[in-house]
Amino acid sequence: MFPDDESCLNYLIDIRWPTGYRCPACNQASTPWHESRNRLACPRCRHKVTVTADTIFEKTRTPLTTWLEAAWHVTTAKNGLSAKTLERTIGISYHVAWMMLQRFRVAMVSSERTKLSGTVEVDETFLGGEEHGGKRGRGADKDIVVIAVELNEGKGFGRTRMRHIPDASGASLLPFIRDSISPDATLITDAWKGYNQVGEDGYTREIKKASISRRISLSFTSLGSGLCKRGGRQYGGSLMSPKASRLR
Ligand SMILES: [Zn+2]
Repeated sequence: MFPDDESCLNYLIDIRWPTGYRCPACNQASTPWHESRNRLACPRCRHKVTVTADTIFEKTRTPLTTWLEAAWHVTTAKNGLSAKTLERTIGISYHVAWMMLQRFRVAMVSSERTKLSGTVEVDETFLGGEEHGGKRGRGADKDIVVIAVELNEGKGFGRTRMRHIPDASGASLLPFIRDSISPDATLITDAWKGYNQVGEDGYTREIKKASISRRISLSFTSLGSGLCKRGGRQYGGSLMSPKASRLR
């Protein structure tokens, strides 16, 4: 997907500063210097910024596919999941399994207390294999996780919630949205009809083309040293977003 580090970084910069780079120190719009693969410097005040900082998956080197495979097991395990089991099931180290569970727990426990607010992007992702029968899957696929992520302007992602749902119908999506997101939030979704009724619950809906799973994927992908090298595999692996496939 990205021929080299330079194009990958530029893509990351576009995602993070959609209206153009602006230095957080002197607040000037400018074309930053590229200090290194992941570091930008302001040509005016020389303040340095790490492009991938401040995302929820900051400092993980674990690929997206592994994270979402883990999410699948975590959201479907009836009696909880131990790090030992996760280690065995998806073939990662105990340390990584433990760290993932910690982050999932933080996300899931707090979801019962406070709802996401502000601008929240909602999307679904297929897990656990290919799209069935060559269909697009939505409504036909049984292995769907719906994900909601707060978007912090210029700062990447905030809190996140996820749930395993049987299908991508409104009947499955709406309860998750009601449980997870404050009704005064602005929801960013794609044009999928399963979201058509959110207005009745008071949500403002904005329809967007880019899918969150692609951007989370980007966030994952951008972490660690394999910045661009792994990108293609993660977009095209066994984990497919309905939107990602549609955009192709
Ligand atoms: Zn500056």
